[in-house]
Formats: sequence, structure tokens, C-alpha cells
Amino acid sequence: MFAFRLTGAHTTQLENISAPEPRAGEVLVRVAAAGVCHSDLHIIDAPEGAFPVPLTLGHENAGWVEALGPGVTGWTTGEPVAIYGIVGCGRCRACLRGHDNECRTVPPGGIGISRDGGMAEYVSVPAGQLLPIGDLDPAQAAPLTDAGLTPYHAIEISRDALRPGTTCVVIGIGGLGHMALQILAATTSVRVIAVDVNDEALELAGRIGAHHTVKADTDAATFIREIVGPPPGGAELVLDCVGAQPTLDLGAAVVSTGGRLTIVGLGGGSLRITPGVGATGIPMETQLVVPFWGTRAELAEVIAMANAGRIAAHVETFPLQDAARAYDRLEAGTLRGRAVVIPNQAAPADASGRTAATVRQR
Ligand code: NAD
Ligand code: ZN
Ligand code: ZN
Repeated sequence: MFAFRLTGAHTTQLENISAPEPRAGEVLVRVAAAGVCHSDLHIIDAPEGAFPVPLTLGHENAGWVEALGPGVTGWTTGEPVAIYGIVGCGRCRACLRGHDNECRTVPPGGIGISRDGGMAEYVSVPAGQLLPIGDLDPAQAAPLTDAGLTPYHAIEISRDALRPGTTCVVIGIGGLGHMALQILAATTSVRVIAVDVNDEALELAGRIGAHHTVKADTDAATFIREIVGPPPGGAELVLDCVGAQPTLDLGAAVVSTGGRLTIVGLGGGSLRITPGVGATGIPMETQLVVPFWGTRAELAEVIAMANAGRIAAHVETFPLQDAARAYDRLEAGTLRGRAVVIPNQAAPADASGRTAATVRQR
């Protein structure tokens, strides 16, 4: 089968490898769609040795049950499923409470991060990773498992702060951010301010639930302050889906006293905290959260919301042969919503009859 793999630091390659055999306790899934997450760019850019290679990418996956490994029951061939990406130890105090995303034994990782993922025709995963998706189109379901789940979890953590009439600033309206806006619209009555560097992302934001859209430039904090008023007030929740220096600074500048600053993005910035009365930095009583992905139960809720038609990923599809091009577009900022790779979609040939390059070197 073909698989889009990390083969070394800064290098990805479409490789022809043998399909995995489901081991004891595993289910082989025929992949319908795998989401193209910005975290993959961080993984590709990480220093040599940070991730196992070769590694099939793809941690946002959905497909159909193909075969059951020894000892697995309860799933039927052909059943459509989403794959929960985190593989916790199942035994620590966090896993026992269903918080595999805070596992005390297994470092943050998962399918497509620390073991082979879904950017391939097949992926084999522990049976407990599967969730039924009902009538959802698997291309829609794939982004729910991260682009939907991660902001849902981040919002759940601060659910008590999201009273009607409060304000949430969402920074970065890409894969995660565009789902965050829809989840806020579907589950709260908060006023939502969307921030992005990209005009098309802001245009999309305005269509899917943002009450205000703000261009992320040097005046962004001033514009947001005009909406939320001066300190010690501000936004009760800032959801930073970028995590770069300018967005961390912006979040600190607009979060309310007693607010929540939630940093989801892994953009490499650093937050300055200087406790002291009258000191700069984040306001008094502010709570800082750095969430990781989400829980299996939360994923079931995200899938239920999508099945009820309350949220829907805006999806652009790419054939597996064009996965490198999808990552190029993600990096260039020319994708809106979420790109998904479809293993069985035919690749468009260019005028010379060639399909896309299969090695991507950065
Ligand atoms: P994406 O590329 O789809 O979206 C990023 C958006 O941010 C784009 O719309 C872009 O225009 C915008 N942006 C970039 N720089 C900006 C700036 N300075 N100010 C405002 N907007 C800016 O990315 P994504 O897949 O949604 O992922 C977002 C981030 O979240 C990545 O860093 C990713 O690694 C991280 N992530 C974290 C978790 C977690 O569990 N914590 C899970 C998934 C993704
Ligand atoms: Zn991701
Ligand atoms: Zn654990």
C-alpha cells in the first residue's frame, strides 16, 4: 500500500510498503480520510530523533473496519469509524478517569505521532481507539478527531466561565479555530471575536459564528479593547490556536482579570508571567491552560454534534499522492478550514501526465 511518511528530519516521502497486519487486540481500518494538521509541520520540522522514523503521518483519521485482530469482537467489517488518536497506558490515575490526554505514563503522542498513522490505505489500531460515526461522511469525521476534539476539550475546560454575555477571543481561524467558532456558536451564548492574519480566514469566521473579526496586526489589541473595554475587564476566555509570540502577547493584552488564557497552538512563542501588583504580564486571577487534544468521551460528543448537523468541518480533499502538496499549501497559509487526504482518490495528472512529486524536502 502507499503511505505518506516522515523518513527523517524535514523529509517526507510517499512510500510503497506492506499493509499492516492487525495484532492481538487491534483492528485494521481501511482509511477513508486523514486530516492535514499543522502539528504535522511541527513534527516534520523537529530535530532528528524527536519522532520515530519511518513514521506514517496522519493523526486525524476515519475509515471502515477491514479486519479484526486476534481477540477482538464487537466490530463488523465495513462499519464506518473515527479513530481516537491518543493511546494512553489505560492504568494510571488519569487514564482510569478517561483522561488519556493527561496520561502519567505515556508521553504526549499517539497514532500518526509515535506510531504509524492514517495517511495510508490502511492503519491498524487498538480496538479501543474506534468510535462509530453513524451516517457521517468519513471525510467529515476525520477532522473531528483533532481539529474538532481539541478546541471542544479546551472549551469544556472553561465551560463555567462561558456565561451568556461573556466574550471569547479565538486567535487563528484555521483547522482548529474554524471548529472552535462553530462549537462556541452551538454550545454557548458568548460574544465571539475571531482573529487571524488572513482575510479569507476572517471572512469564513464571519460566516460560521464570529460576531467580530479582527486582523492580527499591530492594532489588534486596540481593536479588541474597543470591543471588550479597558482593564481590569477583558475577554473571559482567550483561545490561542497559534501559540506564536505575537498571539501570546495579544492574548495577555486582552484577557480579563479572572479570565482564562488557553494556549492550544504550538507556535513556539513564550509567555512572560511577572507576578506583582501593577506589573505587566497576565492579569491577576487569570488561569492559564495548555490543553492537549481531548478525551474519548469528548470525541463521542463532538461526533454527536456533527451528526446532529450543529458543526461541520470545511474540508478540501487531496489524493494521497498529493499529500506533500497539501502540506505545502498548509505551510503557505492558502488552505481554509481543514485539508484531508483521501487514499483512494485518483491523483490529477498535470499536462505532461505526471502526478505530484512524492518526496518533500524542507
Ligand atoms: P492551521 O494552519 O490550520 O491554522 C492556523 C491559523 O492561524 C491560520 O488561519 C493562520 O492564518 C493563522 N495565523 C497564523 N499566524 C497567526 C498570527 N500571528 N495571528 C493570528 N493568526 C495567525 O493550524 P491548525 O491545524 O489549526 O493548528 C493550529 C495550532 O494548534 C498548531 O500550532 C498545531 O500544532 C496546534 N495543535 C495543538 C493541539 C493540542 O493538543 N494542543 C492539537 C492540534 C493542533
Ligand atoms: Zn493535530
Ligand atoms: Zn495513563
